Amino acid sequence: MKLKTIQAAEAKLLLPTYERNPILFVDGAGMYLIDDKGERYLDLLSGIGVNALGYGHPAILQAIERQSRKLVHVSNLYYHEGQAELALRLTERTGLDRAFFCNSGTEAWEAAMKLARAYSALKRSEGRSLGTRFLAIENSFHGRTMGALSTTHKEKYRQPFQPLVPGVDFVRFNDVDHLRASFSTEVCAILIEPIQGEGGIRPVSQEFFAAARELTQSTGALLIADEIQSGLGRTGKWCAYQHFGIQPDVTTLAKPLAGGLPLGVMLCTQDASRAIHPGLHGTTFGGGPLACAVAMAVIDAIEQGEVLVHLQHTGTYFKRQLNDLGAKHQSVTEVRGLGLMLAMEMESAELAKQVVARMLERRILINRTSETVLRFLPPYIMGREHVDLAVSALNDILTEESSGGHSLAGAHRTTGGSRNG
Ligand SMILES: *Cc1c(COP(=O)(O)O)cnc(C)c1O
Repeated sequence: MKLKTIQAAEAKLLLPTYERNPILFVDGAGMYLIDDKGERYLDLLSGIGVNALGYGHPAILQAIERQSRKLVHVSNLYYHEGQAELALRLTERTGLDRAFFCNSGTEAWEAAMKLARAYSALKRSEGRSLGTRFLAIENSFHGRTMGALSTTHKEKYRQPFQPLVPGVDFVRFNDVDHLRASFSTEVCAILIEPIQGEGGIRPVSQEFFAAARELTQSTGALLIADEIQSGLGRTGKWCAYQHFGIQPDVTTLAKPLAGGLPLGVMLCTQDASRAIHPGLHGTTFGGGPLACAVAMAVIDAIEQGEVLVHLQHTGTYFKRQLNDLGAKHQSVTEVRGLGLMLAMEMESAELAKQVVARMLERRILINRTSETVLRFLPPYIMGREHVDLAVSALNDILTEESSGGHSLAGAHRTTGGSRNG
């Protein structure tokens, strides 16, 4: 089917949840996506942080081929070869003890929230004073199901689904005093993205994270780190919390876990896992043999190819180039991030939108989050040559925008003030 036909059919047949760009992708190779006309697009978004090894990686293709010839699904009523082996890889790399597999980020987060409630009930039954409230952070994003949404801060995602799950309070981002003031034995868990993703690639401060660890430890509440976007190597370490030297009680991974196949996981300590017994939680599809086999192939390929070392180098180089752009262009207000989870904040939402559109014209995919933030979540295999392509395109666009060379540039400049030249 042609793009126009598909657009017309989707407009009639699908729930209108997405505003898609008018591009029809049919193929991919390495760092590039390929559309129906054979045009190649440099992908700096990797399917929102999913395609960590890019497109057509031989390890992923081989794992899919081999495993699909054997078993795709068996249900969680029986054993298969994948879950324990994958859980071993993940527990070794996260410092946690036990895994629950599911199919998406939001489901992993639901599992973490349910675990926190069940664990606080267990602690109460053991005579501990521990309540049922969650402390989440302003600007957080934890997913779209009712529980996850209840801990997601932005009003635009929450309306009109009220009432949401009760018992959630929001703490101001990186405000240690507010965190301390909001904390009590009523709290069963503090919920943190070590680097806020949708919230604009904002790392929590060391002090804030450390305070959350100390507070939860003081009452027996859980510290839960959402690593769905930042985890599995994206920042140069398996989990972003490892940069802080802080070990949470629970973490969630999903996006890049199975190389593009849907797979999520909630990992927790042995102690927290005591709250769960057979029948209390589960899923039909979660942790199927195919997804597990591919996830193991992804982890092994990352390790054998020393991909995280490569990623650290590329990330450092990329961030330096973005900082140089920031020094050169007044319209850039901040550069943030770790590894290949990077952002460049623009002075206005209009300009950020314009830059994304003009990058797309040059066949480079990035996206905008939190209105003013350009987000870069490229495949881990990105090289310096790809950084150079992207940065030179950004430089051209920012130069043109600032000199009023484009239709919307004038509009942004009137609010953005003067600049060099
Ligand atoms: C994407 C994301 C989620 C939700 O994952 P889905 O697979 O879309 O349900 C949750 N938390 C964070 C930090 C995310 O980036």
